[in-house]
Amino acid sequence: MVTKAYGAFKCDNPLEPMDIARRAPGARDVQIEIAYCGVCHSDLHTVRSEWEGTIFPCVPGHEIVGHVSAVGASVTKFKVGDTAGVGCMVDSCQRCPACAEGLEQYCENGFTGTYNFPTADEPGHTLGGYSQRITVDEKFVLRISHPAEQLAAVAPLLCAGITTYSPLRHWRVGPGMKVGIVGIGGLGHMGIKLAHAMGANTVAFTTSESKRDDARALGADDVVVSRNVDEMAAHANSFDFILNTVAASHDLDAFTNLLKRDGTMTLVGVPENRHPSPNFASLIFRRKSIAGSLIGGIAETQEMLDFCAEKGIVSDIEIIDIKQIDAAFERMQRSDVKYRFVIDNASLSQ
Ligand code: NAP
Ligand code: ZN
Repeated sequence: MVTKAYGAFKCDNPLEPMDIARRAPGARDVQIEIAYCGVCHSDLHTVRSEWEGTIFPCVPGHEIVGHVSAVGASVTKFKVGDTAGVGCMVDSCQRCPACAEGLEQYCENGFTGTYNFPTADEPGHTLGGYSQRITVDEKFVLRISHPAEQLAAVAPLLCAGITTYSPLRHWRVGPGMKVGIVGIGGLGHMGIKLAHAMGANTVAFTTSESKRDDARALGADDVVVSRNVDEMAAHANSFDFILNTVAASHDLDAFTNLLKRDGTMTLVGVPENRHPSPNFASLIFRRKSIAGSLIGGIAETQEMLDFCAEKGIVSDIEIIDIKQIDAAFERMQRSDVKYRFVIDNASLSQ
């Protein structure tokens, strides 16, 4: 089905309108009319070829919410009219040990990302949510139970929400723990809300003085402007866990110095350039760890959505028209987002 989309034909081009094809729903497929799509920093990294391997034309977008408009004959989880979401994955092998454990993001045969991954569909690679509709295997479609008026603010949960929820759960964040969230952007602001909701003593780290008050309103018990050496020193050796969402290469030692013995800093940011090598002596002498984490599995994404619906958690968003996408990317590059841009996909038809 011909579908209006916005994407890039080349890495230095602005995003522009294009028509793409969506497959007719097969037996297990759900077709979704996309209402809103969040703008993740990964979209920007990809369209600008900051990471290797961008396939053009590139239609980004993996924080998708909308309404089901058609279902295949054997679909059981969804019916026409349901509110539904799609995150960063649209398929995986379903056979390997990781898939068997519900960890499709670590699929040993490679999951299929919502955009920029090989697929049998035209044009041979997946195209994301900056588009009017998408067809996805029901296994990779999520149920949304938030009130209808919150739908736009739910979209960022599909990537920013799960990417922070999954490591917070894996490292068992909860009451009695002191947890740091580094970088208050799309991921980081969700990290603050979720760590706070899980009962941790939550400290936000930002390079932006202007986000100090906001971070408290988001749920942080304390806020540190990481450029201020004295503020940082006051927290030395005190954190059980730090979630680092920064989208640029930076000095990791400044944060590992804040971990206590046996503490872990988990990185989720994937900057264009590598971080300087960390000081391993600081890890060795207090048995500290640096770890990484990738989005979350489908079951855990559903768990996160249900957790957020129950606790009344959504993203803080700025809704944009698709024509404003390049301006939004520029602002995201400058860390000037409060705290997630969300595209109103109705603007694609105008
Ligand atoms: P974002 O909204 O742009 O937020 C990133 C934040 O990092 C900024 O708001 C800023 O916060 C901080 N920052 C930026 N440049 C910095 C610098 N030079 N030094 C220190 N801090 C800096 O981006 P996002 O959408 O949250 O994504 C963050 C990163 O996670 C991206 O690299 C993205 O690709 C990656 N990601 C990973 C996964 C995964 O599964 N692991 C999933 C989604 C996204 P302050 O103003 O507070 O300093
Ligand atoms: Zn993302």
